[in-house]
Amino acid sequence: MSTLVFVEHHDGEPLKGSLGVLSKAVSLGAPVSAVVLGAGARAAAEHVGAYGAQTVYVADTPELAAPLPQPRVDVLADLVRSKGVENVVLSSSVLGTDLAAGLAARLDAGLNWGLVDLSLDGGRLVGKQSALGDSVYVDVAWTTTTRLALVRSGAFEPVRTGGSATIEEIPATIQDWSVAATLVSTETASSEGPSIEDAVVIVAGGRGLGGPEHFGVVEELAKALGGAVAATRAVVDAGWYPYSTQVGQTGKNVSPKLYVACGISGAIQHKVGMQNSGTIVAINKDKNAPIFDYCDLGIVGDLHAVVPKLTELVKQRKSS
Ligand code: FAD
Repeated sequence: MSTLVFVEHHDGEPLKGSLGVLSKAVSLGAPVSAVVLGAGARAAAEHVGAYGAQTVYVADTPELAAPLPQPRVDVLADLVRSKGVENVVLSSSVLGTDLAAGLAARLDAGLNWGLVDLSLDGGRLVGKQSALGDSVYVDVAWTTTTRLALVRSGAFEPVRTGGSATIEEIPATIQDWSVAATLVSTETASSEGPSIEDAVVIVAGGRGLGGPEHFGVVEELAKALGGAVAATRAVVDAGWYPYSTQVGQTGKNVSPKLYVACGISGAIQHKVGMQNSGTIVAINKDKNAPIFDYCDLGIVGDLHAVVPKLTELVKQRKSS
């Protein structure tokens, strides 16, 4: 079985989600190679061997400089065909998702997405996916010989194995139509602390906060815990907090070790984005709020009273 992991990077720094997927693929026991594309790919490839890849394929041409999917589809499709790759595994991100869809079309290959686990059954890859409104997990497989697996962001932690990979330059033959779209500009949102995709702790605020001016209580707790701040769609739609922090069906999927939900009802569309968190703590004044059906620890109370006290306790613990 040959498995190829697409490792996304920013300026030569591999993303945690991609390294987590690579570590998971390596843990299955069969040989795994990785591919890194675009400006800074060589620098990123140097890191990747330490996470267990045996070979890291690299291409860095001007057409691959912008983080656009179509030229990458050209390179990956050629690589899959020339090396006879059976499994291609990617981490969900805007680029990873576009790439997976493009590859599925180009290679006429089956794609399973939203995967939360990977395993082998008789040497064949099997994914785990939630189904039926997230009430059950099901095993999913592929009927095509090339299997594309798109894994939920944050599903796996990167594990350093300390090895070093062979780095191999690969050709990048780009089709004319693949450079029809160009990147006009990029905007960078400035924020403090970890991003919600990478955070080990997330403190999330919902409409129960009562207004944007009250987000400070959530931010204070997040800061005390060394975590990131997230929000519900209700809050984002109201303009209280940026879209980049939205968790859920139309936002991001996160799986921190600890998720603290403050004034969040726990609607299914929110739940699908955070249900893979390690421990879920909910603070809500309505004891019948749906979030109490699936949290690990529930506090029925006014968040404006509870959250500042929690922050105080965390600070005290840290200083003692
Ligand atoms: P509410 O549902 O209004 O809940 C507020 C909660 O705060 C209530 O439970 C209330 O009891 C509690 N509360 C009020 N005051 C206090 C207080 N002082 N102390 C403690 N608790 C208090 N939602 C998402 O989050 N992410 C998505 O990606 C998403 N995608 C969607 C996609 C579609 C197609 C649709 C139809 C909906 C989507 N939604 C999404 C919206 C979702 O259905 C809910 O409307 C939303 O999650 C509710 O946000 P909320 O919990 O902040 O607000």
